[in-house]
Amino acid sequence: MKVDGYTTYVLRVPFPGGAIPRASVTPLLAIELVVVELTTTDGATGMGYTATIGVGGAAIKAVLDEPALRDLVLAEDPRDHERIWNAFYWRTMFVGRNGISLMALSALDIALWDLKARACGQPLWRLLGGFSREVKGYGSGGYLSLSTDDLVAEMAEYVAAGFRAVKMKIGNPDPRRDIERVRAVRAAIGDDVELYVDANQVYDVKTAIEVARRLADENVAWLEEPIPAGDWQGHAAIRRAIPMKLATGETLYTAEPFRDFIAREAVDVVQADVSRVGGVTEWLKVAALARSWNLPMAPHFVLDVHLPLVAATSNGLCVEVIFPWISPIVGQRVQPVGGVYKLADTPGFGLSISDDVKREYRMD
Ligand SMILES: [Mg+2]
Repeated sequence: MKVDGYTTYVLRVPFPGGAIPRASVTPLLAIELVVVELTTTDGATGMGYTATIGVGGAAIKAVLDEPALRDLVLAEDPRDHERIWNAFYWRTMFVGRNGISLMALSALDIALWDLKARACGQPLWRLLGGFSREVKGYGSGGYLSLSTDDLVAEMAEYVAAGFRAVKMKIGNPDPRRDIERVRAVRAAIGDDVELYVDANQVYDVKTAIEVARRLADENVAWLEEPIPAGDWQGHAAIRRAIPMKLATGETLYTAEPFRDFIAREAVDVVQADVSRVGGVTEWLKVAALARSWNLPMAPHFVLDVHLPLVAATSNGLCVEVIFPWISPIVGQRVQPVGGVYKLADTPGFGLSISDDVKREYRMD
């Protein structure tokens, strides 16, 4: 089996109603999906993608299109994902190790695993271990750009749809505003729904601890990315000082930085994002590392790619249900019932991007 087709493209999908959601440190301009499609000499196919918040999609595609990188895949056996991963990583190492080049590698690696599972005629969740075919989702959003009324309505809508946990943004310049908004959400969703808050790296260590202690009265179950993402020392200090769990990992690339966060007790909930960390090949290494410390995986975003990974993994906790209008764009057929996804037997990830979607959103 040899790869004989390698196609890349970018879908740029605006937010519904032309909205520009704002997190603490940046607005989100659009969702870009940078897609890799592979075919082989014996007719197998695979598709993978990474996602941006509206900047960088063309640059990620440009990395994937470099002949010296494309040639690491073309005419190779796609089942050799570990060899291809390492060849790509070392060839891009001096210009990357995170960000654009790792996101390119992630999209490619996801396509390789999709192809491998399809060629085996197996759904990926089963090929990788089949721990469970049911995955819990939590409803996520609650951007700072929403009025308090709209925030409460969004969180209540998730609960009405059956989700038993929700997540909202914090990180307003005045923390008192965050406290008020968290109180309003808690009052609306009741005491039985778990509530998570995400600061998107905006605080320093002392502010994070102060805000977390004040939010403890509202029974917040996890605080996410309170300070700049690479600072494991700061995360460890915060984790020791706050009553709720500390979640982080969406902005860490490759398994290497997870070693420090996990071994130095700087994280409770590991959020490695398969579309950034280096694809399925590297995500599984993070999951194994987390498992050895009895920590759960609750991966960030790209719901439809994460579903089979969380299902396959014994320490998979849940998926993040955010921007759920992306699911039909990538051809997801599985719908949550009572906040739980029951995975299908479709081979691979069970995803596909239609010609209609390409016509509507393709950038080039
Ligand atoms: Mg986050």
